[in-house]
This record gives sequence, C-alpha cells and structure tokens, in this order.
Amino acid sequence: MALPELDTAQATAPAPARAVRPTRTRATALPEVRWAALAALAFLAAFPLDLAGAPGWAWGPLYAVCYAAGGWEPAVAGLQALRERSLDVDLLMVVAAIGAAAIGQYLDGGLLIVIFAVSGALEALATRRTADSVRGLLDLAPATAVRLTAAGEETVEATALVPGDTVLVRPGERLPADGTVLNGTSDIDRASITGEPLPAPAVPGDEVFAGTLNGSGALRVRVDKDPGDFVVARIVALVEEASATKAPTQLFVEKIEQRYSVGVVVATLALFGLPVAFGADLTEALLRAMTFMIVASPCAVVLATMPPLLSAIATAGRHGVLVKSAVVMERLGAIDRVALDKTGTLTEGAPRVTAVRGDATALALAAAAELPSEHPLARAVVAEARARGLRVPEATDFAAEPGQGVRAVVDGHDVRVRRASGTHGDTAVEVVVDGAPAAVLELSDRLREGAAEAVAALGRLTGTAPTLLTGDNAGAAARIAAEAGIDDVRAGLLPHDKAEAVREWERAGAKVLLVGDGVNDAPALAAAHTGVAMGRAGSDLALETADVVVVRDELGAIPAVVALSRRARRLVVQNLVIAGVCIGALVVWDLVGHLPLPLGVAGHEGSTVLVGLNGLRLLREAAWRRAEKAVA
Ligand code: ADP
Ligand code: MG
Repeated sequence: MALPELDTAQATAPAPARAVRPTRTRATALPEVRWAALAALAFLAAFPLDLAGAPGWAWGPLYAVCYAAGGWEPAVAGLQALRERSLDVDLLMVVAAIGAAAIGQYLDGGLLIVIFAVSGALEALATRRTADSVRGLLDLAPATAVRLTAAGEETVEATALVPGDTVLVRPGERLPADGTVLNGTSDIDRASITGEPLPAPAVPGDEVFAGTLNGSGALRVRVDKDPGDFVVARIVALVEEASATKAPTQLFVEKIEQRYSVGVVVATLALFGLPVAFGADLTEALLRAMTFMIVASPCAVVLATMPPLLSAIATAGRHGVLVKSAVVMERLGAIDRVALDKTGTLTEGAPRVTAVRGDATALALAAAAELPSEHPLARAVVAEARARGLRVPEATDFAAEPGQGVRAVVDGHDVRVRRASGTHGDTAVEVVVDGAPAAVLELSDRLREGAAEAVAALGRLTGTAPTLLTGDNAGAAARIAAEAGIDDVRAGLLPHDKAEAVREWERAGAKVLLVGDGVNDAPALAAAHTGVAMGRAGSDLALETADVVVVRDELGAIPAVVALSRRARRLVVQNLVIAGVCIGALVVWDLVGHLPLPLGVAGHEGSTVLVGLNGLRLLREAAWRRAEKAVA
C-alpha cells in the first residue's frame, strides 16, 4: 500500500486564475423576453388604431397577436398547475384578460397581457443573470485534480483526465472521476450519490465515484471513466441550485398565494352573482367583479421576493462571491456575529518553514508523511525539504487527524507530524519518530492583504467584535490576531471545539457567520448560521459545506456581500409594502367607490412592473459599489 514516491517531483502550481469574464446571455436570447416584446409591439400597434376609431379589422388581429404571444405560456402553465389541483395567479390574469375582451374591453385585456408578460420576462432575466454569474465563477475556479505521472505530480483541470490516469486524492478532496483505489485507505462520504451521509471505508480494489468526498486518508486512484460528463453535470446542478431554490419568504408567499387566489375567485364570483341575483345590472356587476379580480390578484406580491435576491446573487457572482442559493442570500444579511479561522483564512495559507530545531534529517521524514496531506502547513514542510535538496522517501499508512496533524510509516519508521505542545511565538509542529520527539519545525504565514480592513468592517456591520477561532497555539494566534485587529482569540481548538463555540453562540441567540478554509473548519461551517469558505485556499470539503464561497479569497468581499444581502432584504420588504398598499387601495376603491377597469388594470400592472424593476436594480454595477461603500 505504498503511496507514490515523489522525491524528484516538481509539483506544478495550480493554473493561474483567469480574468473574470462571465458569459452574459443577451436579454433578447430569452424566449420570455421575445414573447413579451412581440406582445408589447402588437399592443402598441393596435392601441392607437383602436383609440382613433379605426375599423375593427385593423386592430382586432393585432390585439389577437398580443393576447396569444403574451398569454399562451402562462395559460399553459396555469392549466397544468390546475391539473395538479393548484391555482396560480397567472391563470387568473389570463382569465381576466379574456373576460375583459369578452365584454369589449380589448385594450384593458391587452394591457394586462403585455405588462404581465413583461413582469414574467423581468423575473426570467434575473434568473438567467444569476445562472450566468454562477457559471462564470465556476469557469474561474475549475475543478482540479492532482495527476501522478512518471515525472511527479501535476495539477490539472478535472476535465483533462482520461481513463487510465492515476490521481492522488488528498484528505477532504472531492473524487474527480469514477475509478478504482490503487492504494491508500480512507473513508468516503457518498452523500452526494446515495444521500446517505455515512462515510464508507475505501481500500485498494474498491470502486469509488466522482463527486464523493474523501475523508481523512489519502488515496491513489486509477481513473476508469472520462470525468467530462460528471464535471458538466455538477456545474449544471450548482447553477440550478443557485437560481431555482426559493427563499423562505418566497415559499411563504407561495403558500399564502394558493389560498389567497382561491379566495379571490370565490369573492369574484360572489361579487358578480349576488348583485345580479338581487336584480342589479349585469354588465355593471360583471365589470366590478372583473376589476376586483384583477386588482386583488397578488402578482406584485409574487414578484416581490425573487428578483432582488437573484439579482443580488448575480452581482455578488460578478465580484467573485458564489452565494449558493436565494435561501442563503436572504439569510446572509441577518448575521450579527462573525468568527474567522486563522491559517488559510486570515493568513495567506502559504506558510514557510522558518526554523528547524533538533534533528534536521527528521525534515525529510516529516515531508514524506506530509506529502499526501492537503494542509497548508504540509505543503510548507514538503517545499522546505525539497528546497534543501532532501530525498523525500515513500510513505505508507497515511492518516490525517484534522486540526492536529498527520501520521504515516516512512522507511519503516512511525512518523507523526503534529501540533507542538507548549507556547511558541509562531506556528510550531513537532516531528515524532517512533514515539520520540525528533524535531520542532517553526512556520510563519503572512496576514492576507485587506484582512484588517475586512475584520473592522465586519465588526461595524454586526456591532460585535469578530472572534478568531484557531487550532494553532496561543502565541501564533495572538500575533496574527493583533495584526488583524482582533481582540477575542480562542486558540488550540480541535474541529469539534470550533463547532461547539459556534453552537454556543447560536444557542445564545446569535446568528454566526463563520469564515474558514480547512477540513478542520467543516463542522463549524455546518453549525454556523452562514458558512463562508475561501475558494482558493479552501479544501473541497469546506467548499461543499459552506453556503458562500469567496472564489478569489478576497476577505473584503465578505462584508460587501453581507451589506448587499441586507439591501436585498430591504428591497423585498419595500416591494411587499408597495404591493400590499396598491392591492389594498385598489380593492377598497373598487368595492366602495367606482374604479374604472382601465384604471384598475393600470394600477395593478403598474405596481407589478414597479416591484419587478425595483428588484432588478441590484443587477447594476452600482449596487456592488454601494455595498462596498456601506461597509467602508
Ligand atoms: P487553523 O485552525 O489555524 O486553520 P488547523 O486546525 O488546521 O489550523 O491546525 C491546527 C494545528 O494543528 C496547526 O497549527 C498545526 O500545529 C497542527 N496541524 C494540523 N494539520 C497539520 C499537518 N498536516 N501537519 C502538521 N501539523 C498540523
Ligand atoms: Mg484553516
């Protein structure tokens, strides 16, 4: 069960990030937009002819085109929904338009159809922009794999793998392709395939599957199937998750919408039937009932929630922040406390060995044991051994203990590299060979650019000073905390200690935003109200567990995206108020006074489009700049 010997290896650095150039679908490429445009054009052609008193054959067909172009899609969808015993507003609007036409109010029905189609197009646009930005981010951070070749290891895009390749899968990494374990032992979380979150053991000869997450061992895997389809499927799944998951407010609105729509239909029938039964004028009763149905329909309410949240996701995406769903975008703005991990999060995650105390040959053994590890410290140890020209021997029986260190058998010795006990001014790890301490390696990492500003901004946003949660020793933690401007420091934490700290705050009523990168941060990321992972430094496990991924590791984007989420939440509330007030006022006017049908249609549709456009404001570039300014 030997892991590959890589003493001559020249590890290739991951491909440099490409410029952000998210593909932007043209609005006119969306069928919803084209149908809405056709409906609007037909309406604009018909309406002056109609008003000028031209004969019916001149404007009639134009209205027909308008009704058909704008109405067929919601009619089909509405009928389908009806077959599943649910009533949606779309259908009410189509019925209202046809009803209006039936009593000769072609213009009102047409206006209804046009504005209805336009608001549908606005929502489709927000959804599409979201998908574009998520796809752009995934292009920016392609899934990579470590391919083993005769010359050593190289980092390649997962799509470049072919059957027969051998890949090294480090702890917490996602399997890049279907394959067979050649050597190493680990446990694999198959939740992404079976939905069963129980890790299953993986030993040589076992079949493993693309997309599953490796546990704390390292595996050498032979690729059996071309990963191309899988990678594409994953991207599609992520994009869908981002744009199709509905925010809690939206789900609530939709639940209410059902009963409300039924109520509107019942009230409409009563409003028509009762007066007629008591001898009122038929046309007048019909007009009043129809006006009621139109103005009482919750179109604007339905359009209040998703466009602002989807627009905010798209805008965040263009600035390197992947917010995984509308649910997350809505929750994000509620956070009131922040905790950050140290190594790889506040620091660059590219430490260097600054001193080797004790037996210098232990460095080679340590490097051998660290080679299969994904940890930033491990990379530093391997780099130092190579820089000193040491031969890094072959390791077997590798195992990692997240937050503590690694263990492996090297040249027949039991080698452990682990957190050094005692206080140190810097990060220190101890190399223990066959149970005896052999050396202490000191490592130093630099604070990320902009870390102090981001910490200060997060403190101002939440009104609570951020906390540093780290597995490193108190000395190293204090040094980085001082540089980053953090007073509240908790050091020496194991992964479950970090999660427990988060849970404790949550129990006390706080909504915690946790920022982390490592396998050791995953439990805390899962426990937090919102988990944020660093995209470049982060392990696949952290990326998978987090709700938000900062693709280019810019800490400064975190306070900005929180501010953007808060603005989106405010817009949702604003929209709901606009929608509610308009519906209320128009309904009262219709019931108590006399609301002319055209005015009812204009008021109702006007408020719907206003609400839709209000949400799309967050698509603009200025929305991000404003969010940045809000936290500066
Ligand atoms: P942080 O919380 O700062 O990101 P970790 O929890 O990943 O750090 O690690 C905590 C400590 O455990 C490290 O400072 C180091 O002493 C030790 N450690 C963890 N992983 C390794 C490893 N692969 N090699 C050596 N030491 C490690
Ligand atoms: Mg870390």
